Amino acid sequence: MTDKSINESHWMMGMLDSINVGLVVVDLEYRIQMWNDYMENLSGSPASKVLNKVIYELFAEIPEAWFKNKINSVSTLGNHSFTIWEQNPYLFKFKNYRPITGAVEYMYQNTTFIPLSSPSGEINQVGIIIYDVTDAAINKLELETSNNELKKLSRTDRLTQLNNRGYWEECLYNEYMRVKRTNQPASLIIFDIDHFKKVNDTYGHMAGDEVIRQTAAALRESIRDTDIPGRYGGEEFVLILIDTKPESAFILAERIRKKIEGLTVIYEDMEIKYTISLGISQAITDSGDYMKWLECADNALYTSKESGRNQTTIYSPKSAE
Ligand code: GH3
Ligand code: MG
Ligand code: MG
Repeated sequence: MTDKSINESHWMMGMLDSINVGLVVVDLEYRIQMWNDYMENLSGSPASKVLNKVIYELFAEIPEAWFKNKINSVSTLGNHSFTIWEQNPYLFKFKNYRPITGAVEYMYQNTTFIPLSSPSGEINQVGIIIYDVTDAAINKLELETSNNELKKLSRTDRLTQLNNRGYWEECLYNEYMRVKRTNQPASLIIFDIDHFKKVNDTYGHMAGDEVIRQTAAALRESIRDTDIPGRYGGEEFVLILIDTKPESAFILAERIRKKIEGLTVIYEDMEIKYTISLGISQAITDSGDYMKWLECADNALYTSKESGRNQTTIYSPKSAE
């Protein structure tokens, strides 16, 4: 080297050391050839301790096979290669030291792998640049979380935490379309609290709310994960049962009815007993649309009310007359 080039490489090293990204160079045997100050500070290992050591042996978080493959392809093809935190949160497991984003334990990193050629043009080293992207990652993750929460909120009924009417109707439509495609049976149960006005009038609106809440809880306790419950209106509840014939739906409906019949809601020392009436219909896809399915169940519910309440009716065209 000439004096000039020695001088230049000295400045250069000074700059590379004080830059705010991690700079690492490895040779084709994966041994560390350069380790800047940033890497020293974050890893707690000085360059003197890591130089000429095999990188994945020192840093267990770097998967050996993956790393070898990366270095080999970058050096053979002569192309840059990147990793992003969305795929892999980090290359080096460094503690997140930032006060504002202290909520996460480790630093999120993007990395760039660069083939480094010698003056004769051979690639015998690979440079790795490590960027701290913790702030950006946290912002994105937080945005995703709040979007998901908003989505869930927009689908959920506040009082009961069941699906609300809008979202439940979307589910009804999807299920109806699925039945149309597959010809599998599906049933729908709708039920309504009997004489609920009287509950409100006798015990007060707040007690009425508690009755609605406990009705939703009884519904939730009675069903499987694949069933889709919803609060359709004030004191009206609905349930989609996939792969279920009306006769099976009837057994479940009766179980829910008896559960409610046996329930005593206690609200501020008042003991409230009540019943529900239910209607069931099977999805018929040869005429009408998904709302017709709901209308038929509602029809059967009406029959239950007319016939004295606290009972279940399966829809049949005759019962609708
Ligand atoms: P039926 O046996 O025929 O169903 O009689 P009902 O008294 O239950 O009849 P109706 O459906 O007309 O009454 C429903 C009442 O439910 C009217 C409304 O004030 C009340 N309601 C609707 N939503 C809520 C709610 O969120 N909380 C409370 N406490 N009451 C509600
Ligand atoms: Mg009603
Ligand atoms: Mg009612």
